[in-house]
Formats: sequence, structure tokens, C-alpha cells
Amino acid sequence: MGARATETTRELESTSIKYQIGGHAEKMWQRLKGILRCLVKQLEKGDINVVDLKKNIEYAASVLEAVYIDETRKLLDTEDELSDIQSDSVPLEVRDWLASTFTREMGIVKRRPEEKPKFRSIVHAVQAGIFVERMYRRTSSMVGLAYPAEVIVTFKIPVPNLISFAEALEVGYSKYKNPYHNLIHAADVTQTVHYIMIHTGIMHWLTELEILAMIFAAAVHDYEHTGTTNNFHIQTRSDVAILYNDRSVLENHHVSAAYRLMQEEEMNILANLTKDDWRELRSLVIEMVLSTDMSGHFQQIKTMRHTLQQTEGVDKAKAMSLILHAADISHPAKSWELHYRWTMALMEEFFRQGDKEAALGLQFSPLCDRKSTLVAQSQIGFIDFIVEPTFSLLTDSMEKIVMPLIEEASKSESPAFGTPSQNSLGAVSNAEAQRRPSFKSTSDGGTHTENSLATVDLTSFKDNLMKIIQANKERWKELAVEEELVKNVGEQEKDQSRNSTDAQLQEETTRIQNESSQGSDGTTCPPRSIVLQVVSFDTPLSDESNSEKCTNSDPNQKDLTDAQQETQNTDPLNGEPKHCKKSEDSVKATEKEALIQN
Ligand code: 5GP
Ligand code: MN
Repeated sequence: MGARATETTRELESTSIKYQIGGHAEKMWQRLKGILRCLVKQLEKGDINVVDLKKNIEYAASVLEAVYIDETRKLLDTEDELSDIQSDSVPLEVRDWLASTFTREMGIVKRRPEEKPKFRSIVHAVQAGIFVERMYRRTSSMVGLAYPAEVIVTFKIPVPNLISFAEALEVGYSKYKNPYHNLIHAADVTQTVHYIMIHTGIMHWLTELEILAMIFAAAVHDYEHTGTTNNFHIQTRSDVAILYNDRSVLENHHVSAAYRLMQEEEMNILANLTKDDWRELRSLVIEMVLSTDMSGHFQQIKTMRHTLQQTEGVDKAKAMSLILHAADISHPAKSWELHYRWTMALMEEFFRQGDKEAALGLQFSPLCDRKSTLVAQSQIGFIDFIVEPTFSLLTDSMEKIVMPLIEEASKSESPAFGTPSQNSLGAVSNAEAQRRPSFKSTSDGGTHTENSLATVDLTSFKDNLMKIIQANKERWKELAVEEELVKNVGEQEKDQSRNSTDAQLQEETTRIQNESSQGSDGTTCPPRSIVLQVVSFDTPLSDESNSEKCTNSDPNQKDLTDAQQETQNTDPLNGEPKHCKKSEDSVKATEKEALIQN
């Protein structure tokens, strides 16, 4: 046996040289696999020379390691660490050649979801067997993160690049200090997309690449949002409006700017993707993010409704776009506490645009006049005409796509189908979803893991969603009664009623502050101080004395970190009511140009 094992080594060496010249990496991998299998057989037979066996296994591991090193060189980052890893038993050329050939081969072989080349799993196995510990140590110590080993095993994204990219995203999302379109909104939408993919079972219909595209699109979808609408950009002839010819101005910018970040090597999280995968992902991301332009909402709904009536399958990009679009407007499908806070944050953002419009002598855009906007009523309309139809379409689409998968899976695996899962977009489920990561590729829903198709219960997903949306609408209806009163009474009475509405909303805000605390429910919330600063819907613009007390009135004064610190330092019960006053005169002429840009 010893002789045979040595033969194996020689065979392997000559093979590597041969393929080094020929450049047939995939054949090389298959050969390697054959050799390893041969060794296993010998092990089974007990026909073993331990020394030779050890040598062969070490050699095989080294060759695999060499390929891995190149694949993850971005992750390992520095030359020093690269040379650390160099194995004595692997000639440098072989390592380099294998690495480059492997990468090139990945570029040529067009991966289809159904037939993923086996060498991918070998690479994953190598990652697990040889490097997991090192990667785990590196990533854990770097940012205090601790990833489960399974995550690292399946991860193709270089972790340092991911960290740099995420940091840059955060900077971009904080650039305009928006109450609503900030990094928490990005995190919220990303988490919601993840939640929808798991709880509708749609993840079993999507490939790994499509799942990555979904998560990535959600994370970047409002990158560098200016806190103003497309229409504001168009009206003020901003640079981006000119750049994108008034078409989906912000959305075009979000994708473009996010991709521009990845042009920097250290932020290129897609470095290990093949050319084909890279292109496919980009095309999906562009389509999804552009579809978050609300101006395309009705067309999008109509097209998708039409698709559902047809017998043929649903277009993947369209289904994915609908998921992102739904996640983007999903806060009305979450607990009242969250929904209320997101609403107030958005309204404050609208009002700040209104302030800018007033300062520029432009007409107020709808919902942007802090003096006259009827928030509760507008929310009822938003829920009735936008949110409900969107979520109804979402659940219908998911049904059309996922039901056949469930049926198919239940035929091959009968027990335990239909086990209900906690299904709402609410707090508990999100936390639960985060504890239950899935690492599946595609169409493997037959196995009874926690996120398998067996756990999908679309009916309760839909019922819970609709129940929450309905309950939130009822709350707005209660508040709308007060709002209506304010609107209808005369000037003097109006002032009194307004105070009472303020008091009611102040009370509501305080109650929410007391009842819900960020993070305890596993969902993302807007910063509290943002909510506190928008309790008044009708902030007068002329009370200078009050503006001194108001610490939150200037959008350019605070970033998220400040806001969070203030949250910790301010007792919402004892703190000054933040009726932020802002004088029109206080908008200096020099600021006007900046306003246009913003
Ligand atoms: P985003 O700008 O976040 O990509 O797209 C979502 C859009 O939906 C927002 O800009 C806003 O126009 C609208 N939206 C989201 N939530 C609400 C809400 O609670 N009320 C209203 N009126 N519009 C909302
Ligand atoms: Mn958004």
C-alpha cells in the first residue's frame, strides 16, 4: 500500500504540472477528488501505511489550500498574512497557477443554479476544514463580531471588504442627517426583505445569487438619500436631476453611487463573483432599486397582477422587485409603536423639505407643509391605496410561486408539513428569523430544517399582516377624528384644539417611548429623539425665543450618533416638549444654494 500511496502522490504532482500547463482546473479538481476517494477506499479496506497516507492527505490539503488562498486573498488582505499561509509542501508556482486558473475557469463556466459545479462545494469544504478557525478568529477580533461557522463556510464575500463597504454605506446614509431615509431605514428594509424571503418560503425559489442580490439591493436602495423627493430634485434642477434626466433621479443615484464604492478594491465585496454572476447580480440590483421609485408603483402593481393571471411562471426580477418595494413600505405592517415612529420620522423629513421649499419660494409639495398637513388622514390614504394593495399582491404572488414548491416537496417528504411558523412582520418573528439563519441554495425545501418549506404557512403570514395593517389603520382613524376637529373649528378654537392634538400626540409619543425600547423586540426603530422632535405637526416658524431651547430643529446640526446619545440623556417624560421653531428668516441666503443641492 505504501507504494501505491506514493504513486498517488506522484500522480498528483504530475497532474498538477500537466494542468499547470494545460490550464484545465476543473479536471484537476476532479482528479484530486478521485485521489481523495481512492485514499478513503484504502482507509476502508484497512490497507494503510499511515506515514504515506498522512503525506498524501497533507499534500492534497495544501493544493486545495493554495486555491483557497487566492480566492480569499482579499479577505486575508495583506502580503504578510499571505506569506504566513504559504505551505512548505506547495510550490509557489503551483499555488499561483491553480489560483489563477481556478478563477479564470470560474469566469468561463457559466454556473446554472441547477448544476453548480462540484468544485464549489470542495472549496467550501476546504474553507470549513482548513481555514474556518483562522477566519473566525480574524473576523471576531476585528469588529467584535462572531459569525457561526456555517456562515463562514458558505461565505464568498471577503470580510474586510464587507466591513469597509458597510462602513462606507453608513457614512453615505448619514450624509444628509435624514430623520427617515437613514441607515436605520436601510437596515430595516434589509431585515424585512430577509424576513419575507424566509417566511413566505420564496427563498427556496431563488438561487444563492438572487438571494444575495435581494439583500444587497435592500442594503443600498436609499444610499445617499438627500431627504428630499425626486420631484424636489427636478424642480430645483439639482445636479442629480440633470445627471439622470429627471428619471428616477434618486434611485439611479442610490445604485450608481453604491457601485462606485465597490470600484475601490478594498470595498469590492463582489470580488469573488464570476463575470457572469457579477453581471446577473448587477442587472437584478438595478431593476430592483429602480423599482423602488414610487412613481412606478401603480404600473408595477398592474403588471404583476396581470402576470398572476397568466398560466406561465412569474418573472423572477419582477417578483424580487415587488418584495423590495413591499419591504420599503412595510412599517404600516409592523407594530403600532414602530409604525408610528417611522411615520413621524418620515413626516419630519417631508416637513423639512417643506421648509426648504418655503425658503426657496416654491410651492409646498403634498404633505410637506408642517402647518397644514393632516398626518393621520394621509396615513389612512397611504395604507388604503398603497400599502394594502401592495401586500395583498405580495402574498398572492408568493402563493402562486411557493404553493407548487410546497406541493412538490410534500410529495417527496410527507411528515410535518404545514407546521405553522410565527408569521407577521412584527417584532417577535423578526427576532426569531434572525436566530434562524438558512444556508440553502435553491429548491431544496424538502428537508425539515427550521426554515424549510415545511414551516411555511402563507395563510397565517397573510392573515397576520392584514390584521396588523388593519389595526394600525384603526389607530390612525382615532387620531384623524381629533385632526378633523382641529381643521374644522375657527381660528381661536383651532389654536386650543391644536394644543389638545399636540397633547394627545405628545401623550402617544411618550407612551410609545415608555412601552417600546429599541432592540428589545429584534426590529429596527428610528432613533427616539427624532420622534420626539416631530410631535408638533404645526410648528410656527417665527418664535425665535423657543428656537434656542430647541436642540433638534436644524437637520444639519445632528447626526445619528448625536441623536442616539441624546436619546440616552433625555428623559422623554421630563424633557422639554420639543416644539421646534424655525424662523424663515433664519435660512440665510448662503444656505439657499445648499438647500437646492440637498
Ligand atoms: P423610499 O423613498 O423609502 O425608497 O420609498 C418609500 C416611499 O414610500 C417614501 O419615500 C414615501 O414616499 C413613501 N412612504 C413610506 N412610508 C410612508 C408613510 O408612512 N406615509 C406616506 N405618506 N408615505 C410613505
Ligand atoms: Mn426606502
